[in-house]
Amino acid sequence: MARTTRIIWGKWDCSTCSTKGISAEPPPGETQPRCPHCGNPREQNAGEAAYLDNARDSSGRVLGANVADTAREVAIATAGADWTCGRCGGDNRAGNPQCDGCGASRNDALAPRNLGGSALPLLSSGKGLAALILTVMVPLGGWGGFHLYTTNYTQDLPGTITSLHWQHTVDLQTFVPATTGDWHAGLVESPAVMPVNGAGESPGVADIRDCEQRHHHDEQYACGTENVCVQKSRSVDDGQDCHEVCSTSDNGNGSFTETCDDVCSTSSHTEYYEECHDQTKYCSRSIDLEWCTYDTWRWEAAGQVELHGEDPAPGTTDLPWPGQGSGELQRTVRSEDYQVEYTIPEETGPKTTWDPVADQADFLGLRLGQKVRATVGWEGNVLSVHR
Ligand SMILES: [Zn+2]
Ligand SMILES: [Zn+2]
Repeated sequence: MARTTRIIWGKWDCSTCSTKGISAEPPPGETQPRCPHCGNPREQNAGEAAYLDNARDSSGRVLGANVADTAREVAIATAGADWTCGRCGGDNRAGNPQCDGCGASRNDALAPRNLGGSALPLLSSGKGLAALILTVMVPLGGWGGFHLYTTNYTQDLPGTITSLHWQHTVDLQTFVPATTGDWHAGLVESPAVMPVNGAGESPGVADIRDCEQRHHHDEQYACGTENVCVQKSRSVDDGQDCHEVCSTSDNGNGSFTETCDDVCSTSSHTEYYEECHDQTKYCSRSIDLEWCTYDTWRWEAAGQVELHGEDPAPGTTDLPWPGQGSGELQRTVRSEDYQVEYTIPEETGPKTTWDPVADQADFLGLRLGQKVRATVGWEGNVLSVHR
């Protein structure tokens, strides 16, 4: 990064005669320039910075400026900021111990001119950040707490058992001859064994026949090569792009130090391209296997009987089962179901809910009118009941 530095003279306006754009460069033999029209010495705060800004090119370099190109000029420009006389308001060079205009001592006069600063904007942006953090944090905390409250909220309410229901079902099944089919490879002829008291049977496989080819599954197989293309992208370097960036600082005495730097950046663009290659091509074909018909036996539904009831009498130890078939080649399959209904009084009216009961012993321990406690969720849903 290349850097160039030069000292340039600003321009000022005469407040006495309204002559504008006078160079701040001190003429030979003088420390201050004078107005070429009325002879008024250069004044401070005379619009130098504005003249500078109007003469900048796109990089910020000041065009057409008078450059401090002699040792004498550089010495004046780098001696420090001018000071303003507190008694007469006259402008004086940094090195002057006394005012050129009225002779007052510098100690009696004002401090060197203020070049300005950015302390105030920094302070106010700090305040803005603090305010932003406060406004975001408070609502977050509030909502987080509310959410926790709703999901964990439950109520413990008293309830009553208002209904009881039980049902005993018996499915009757008969072992009957059947004709079915299967893949030949898994079939082995074996004799059927009849059940004794509804158990110990084996369906058997007999008279395997009528075998035919059937679709079993599809198989993938290599069938040559194919050219496959994939879209890809890559970053292409466009090289370095450099440009000059200039800035000026006010020396407080009509001169400015201009600093120009070469700022470079690497730019690139995305290029899309296709990448192709040969790869094995796969085709699909049907694999057929032999499917055969054969004779066997199976259990077939032959009717259903059931008994059900409500509140069992106190002291009941066994609820009855319906009568069941007892013919040869028959079996029975029992199923049982026990349900209890709770009613929970609530502000919005009583709420009833049916629940399954684990087994008969548990069911026989329940009575109509029995008090329970129910855990109820946020929306009135019953989560659990404690008896
Ligand atoms: Zn003038
Ligand atoms: Zn003075």
